[in-house]
Amino acid sequence: MIARDLSNSHLVKQIRKKPVAIIPVGSTEQHGPHLPVSTDSDIISFIAKKVSEKTGFLLLPTIEYGVSFEHHPFFNLSITPSTLQKYLIEICASLWKNKIKTIIILNGHHGNQKALNGIPSKVAKIHGIRQKILVYSYWHFMKQRFDHAGFVETSIMRAISGHVKMSAAQKGLVEDGLSREELYRLGKAASKSFISVTKNGVWGDPRRATAKDGRKILTQVIAAIAKESQTCLTG
Ligand SMILES: [Zn+2]
Repeated sequence: MIARDLSNSHLVKQIRKKPVAIIPVGSTEQHGPHLPVSTDSDIISFIAKKVSEKTGFLLLPTIEYGVSFEHHPFFNLSITPSTLQKYLIEICASLWKNKIKTIIILNGHHGNQKALNGIPSKVAKIHGIRQKILVYSYWHFMKQRFDHAGFVETSIMRAISGHVKMSAAQKGLVEDGLSREELYRLGKAASKSFISVTKNGVWGDPRRATAKDGRKILTQVIAAIAKESQTCLTG
């Protein structure tokens, strides 16, 4: 159920039946030489649409700007964590006024996570409302290790997008042989300066990514998010 396609009366009826909305949040940032800057936004929009179809929850427009300063000097259009929070807090309050009691914020970009996790408590504090806000980052619902423009993101994009240039795909930082401590250290450094850790903006190796793998990962993630959100609502 895509909110922006519905008329006022249709929306009112839908909200009365199921007062739950999904807000996808992505980013606009470099994803190596082979993927578009819209990658995170494309992936989370696709997942959110499928979850909405499975659950009947209302799908709201994707927020395509996120916190991506770590990708400088590569291309990124970024907003600060507090701007992202403020924007979403106001949307939540507005949804409440429209009788939407539950919101699922679906996140597609690692750098947004901290800001998004702070939203439920801030909405309660600032607006004094008891809205149920669930925040999910989609990679927590897959078995694979997540990456950036590596095997996982590239496979998913091959499954859903016509804008992947596999001939330009390059191996980036690979995790094989690195200790947990080393990975943690590199992850922290990458969250400040991605280029200093990966050199080419790629975390992982995208060269063997296939659409088939992408579809497999998506099926798993979409089913798990739909199940988790429904359990959270009834439980
Ligand atoms: Zn990404």
